[in-house]
Amino acid sequence: SRPLDVPFATPAVGGTTARSLSTVRNLGILAHVDAGKTTVTERVLHLTGATHKRGEVHDGTTVTDFDPQERERGITISAAAVSCDWAGHRINLIDTPGHVDFADEVERSLRVLDGAVVVFDAVAGVEPQSESVWRQADRHRVPRIAFVNKMDRAGADLDGTVAAIRDRLGAVPLAVQLPVGREDGFTGVVDLVRPRALAWSGDGAAPAEGPVPADLREEVARRRALLVEQVAERHPAALEEYCVRADLSAPVLEAALRDLTRAGEVVVVLCGSAYRNRGVEPLLDAVVAYLPAPLDVPAVRGRAVASRGGSDAGEQERPADPAGPFAALVFKVLAAPTGRLTCLRVYSGTLRKGDTVLDAGTGRTERIARILRVQADRHTELDLAVAGDIVAVAGPKAARTGATLCAPGAPLVLEPPRAARPVVSVA
Ligand code: GDP
Repeated sequence: SRPLDVPFATPAVGGTTARSLSTVRNLGILAHVDAGKTTVTERVLHLTGATHKRGEVHDGTTVTDFDPQERERGITISAAAVSCDWAGHRINLIDTPGHVDFADEVERSLRVLDGAVVVFDAVAGVEPQSESVWRQADRHRVPRIAFVNKMDRAGADLDGTVAAIRDRLGAVPLAVQLPVGREDGFTGVVDLVRPRALAWSGDGAAPAEGPVPADLREEVARRRALLVEQVAERHPAALEEYCVRADLSAPVLEAALRDLTRAGEVVVVLCGSAYRNRGVEPLLDAVVAYLPAPLDVPAVRGRAVASRGGSDAGEQERPADPAGPFAALVFKVLAAPTGRLTCLRVYSGTLRKGDTVLDAGTGRTERIARILRVQADRHTELDLAVAGDIVAVAGPKAARTGATLCAPGAPLVLEPPRAARPVVSVA
């Protein structure tokens, strides 16, 4: 049986690459309009340094600032995907339009992300659009965690929102925090997984960590016991430990929550107030701890197109292997001032600057002139992009949203539906 406190075993795709792939999170933030998606996103970009490390030049890469006009128009956040770093992980934040009129665009972005944060308003709870984005995410089997925002508002109700996620969305929400203070007096959270208190001073500084306040100890113990029980009954390996100790250690609880989240069986719930800079650091920690890396999701499937004279047509699987044949999905085409930018999710293989790729649907070949990582206010030019990466490329003139770009020698059209996620198998 697989030990619980280590990450999923990764396929043999070469040391460094496999390691770095496990530190990528392709993430979407979903919400009902007004729940606070923009505020959460801005806070994430600020915390991850994406908005204040401008001009930094990494070894061997060129950094291009967006021009002021571009920045003003807000291209930074609406740029389809923005990369940022947190705790040694690269988080590619994929834009998902919040408005119902863009349901198609939401579908497209859901195809290319591996996990999502769904933001709820702690007062309004589950709203009609939270329900529709939830159903879309269900269809695409996107593992998700929930962030109950606006805990500072009068009438904020974490337990009520958790109940609504259970009753109206049919999910198994598991709150991993207890809020400290109510409404205007909401100052922090107690982490139930690794019992400790996190308190924010409100000036944007990192939270102060301390022991669980004496008056909350009983409540924290009660809620943690309930959490442990709910996790153990769904996770065979955790249940084994639970039967012996009547408890779960923090690493086992966290690992079991990760497995269950990735299998789509539970939804970890956190809370905070993005507007007041409270709760976003633990949210980022949870993205890293619980949501899957590109290697943790099932291999994408595609329909191979017979190559000239060949008879290799048929269904194929393309695991996230940098050494495999190149295949990527176009999920957005942007008109940037510098020209057309094609946003790609690379599913397999490695794309190099200067490569010629095939649009398998149209039979047209396209040359990749530049590969760019889009950050909040700059582009970084890359020499290559590997399976699991989200990048923008310049060069392709005709490839449309939804197109598959692939190695000319291994033509493939990626399928819209995602393969089923594995169930938890730890026995
Ligand atoms: P979006 O439509 O989901 O992107 O929501 P926004 O981020 O634009 O937020 C909608 C409104 O809620 C804005 O007026 C925000 O200032 C406000 N807001 C966002 N987060 C919070 C919060 O944590 N507490 C309070 N009280 N207001 C918030």
